[in-house]
Amino acid sequence: MSSFQSLGIRAEILRALTDLGFEKPTPVQAATIPLLLADEGDMVALARTGTGKTAAFGIPLLERIDTAEKAVQGLVLAPTRELCVQIAKDLGRYAAHLPGVRTAAVYGGANIREQMRDIQRGANVVVATPGRLIDLLERKAVDLGHVRTAVLDEADEMLNMGFQEDLTTILDNTPKEKRTWLFSATMSSEVRRIARNYMREAKEVSLANDAKAQSTINHQYTVVMARDRYIALKRFVDADPDMFAIVFCRTKQDTQDLAENLTRDGYNADAIHGDLSQQQRDRVMERYRSKSLQMLIATDVAARGIDVSNVSHVIHFDLPGEPESYTHRSGRTGRAGKSGVSLSIIGSRDINKVRGLERTLKVHFTYVRVPDGAEICERQLLTLIGKIKSVKVDETTIAPFLNAVELDLADLTREDLIKRVISLEFNRFLKQYKDARDLNVDLARKDHNPKERKEKSDFGRSSDAPMRSMFINIGTKDGFDKGKMLGYLCGITGLTGQHIGRILLKDMFSFVDIDAAHFDEAMGHFKAANYKGRKVRVDEGDGGGATGARDFKADKKTFNKSRRSVG
Ligand code: AMP
Repeated sequence: MSSFQSLGIRAEILRALTDLGFEKPTPVQAATIPLLLADEGDMVALARTGTGKTAAFGIPLLERIDTAEKAVQGLVLAPTRELCVQIAKDLGRYAAHLPGVRTAAVYGGANIREQMRDIQRGANVVVATPGRLIDLLERKAVDLGHVRTAVLDEADEMLNMGFQEDLTTILDNTPKEKRTWLFSATMSSEVRRIARNYMREAKEVSLANDAKAQSTINHQYTVVMARDRYIALKRFVDADPDMFAIVFCRTKQDTQDLAENLTRDGYNADAIHGDLSQQQRDRVMERYRSKSLQMLIATDVAARGIDVSNVSHVIHFDLPGEPESYTHRSGRTGRAGKSGVSLSIIGSRDINKVRGLERTLKVHFTYVRVPDGAEICERQLLTLIGKIKSVKVDETTIAPFLNAVELDLADLTREDLIKRVISLEFNRFLKQYKDARDLNVDLARKDHNPKERKEKSDFGRSSDAPMRSMFINIGTKDGFDKGKMLGYLCGITGLTGQHIGRILLKDMFSFVDIDAAHFDEAMGHFKAANYKGRKVRVDEGDGGGATGARDFKADKKTFNKSRRSVG
């Protein structure tokens, strides 16, 4: 395991890292720091936000600052004000024991004169948004003629935001022999073009698809009628009282409407979008950071540069237009080694989009069902009990009141008391979820055409194509009936009812006939599948299809073999 010492970092910075409690380099740091310290070349690094990339470029950048020279030697460009401020703050921390390093953060929406003064006071590192830096260049308030290191952070985001021309102008104002380091979550064609035109034989370091970098995010999707997405969202929140989420919508109006509806229904939510003034935006962000808000409802643009740790869920209330946006959105959770969930709440028409994201981004999406009333009530109850058990009791403060309270409650038995305490908090959920309907779309029904229904098939399969039998280790005990099983299978595999034949359900497992032509592909989709936290195992049934497996003794071999491997 590498340590910061072994990367060749100078003692003053090592001390700062120790002060910050950084024990060992993150993968992106281990990959880039030695390269940037030793080599003279340029570099393109594919790494997501939250992987520790600020230190990955920040430390080598600081190593290259000559404090005797009063000029801007380090330049970092970032897409948003938030990110600029964060980077400048982080650089300040890493340089805590490097006297003479001065960092100025310059970005739009703040007083430009103060920023000009910061630069004139002898900044040797400038962290800037492209637009504001162009403004400063035009005013001749900054000289980039001595820049030794230029970093383009979240380059794909800057290009998405239309900063291409500004980047070109800025880089044209820097010396040709400087070193350029580009960090991006995705390698779009625009990023490639910048690398080609403005970088010299750039080395590529890719951590974007690093299994470890990705594995902290659990990508999930759930399928409901489009009009039920709002109720489904509330159910997911109710089922997870500790959720701390960013919810993405497509338009400003959608974010506002959703935030208003959630607030009206008693949730702590607010919207962030491009029409807010900087002050309003700061206020919302402050409430979110301090967790006064449980949900931040955002557009893609407004969420850029948001740097909040501990986001437990990114929820796609609308799927993004581009796969890159999905990567950026989901990168807001699962940061710094913590795990997170990226949940897409979709209508059945959008299943193909999820499949497309799977293929393009090479991530697996797990199908999850919208929790039902019983699950939600159970989770809420367990949370309440957990709170009761863990609450700190201040004996001294409550002592004067205890006698009176005990007298007042003297008639109640222990059981009565428990019931009442629970009901006090819990009645709302019991009432709300009494008779709550199942929101999950039975995906097969979408493809079901009664005219084509044939005797032998459970769900509208009309072809006589050969079938193979799949064993799956879930059954009626897991709450499945044939409809649910078909919906589940279609959700995981992307197949439709046309490709699925008879389904045989047993308590603990099932057999399903699947078109032989799609069988192997369908099996492949179960590699990382989970159901309610349990690993889903599939295998080929031995009994000649679910039809043949009706006498399941014939398949006992399969059952025993697969059951043993249930994790
Ligand atoms: P970044 O991707 O630069 O935004 O970093 C994400 C978070 O990880 C920040 O809060 C950093 O302070 C933290 N971090 C970066 N490097 C390390 C490390 N080596 N050990 C622990 N935390 C780190």
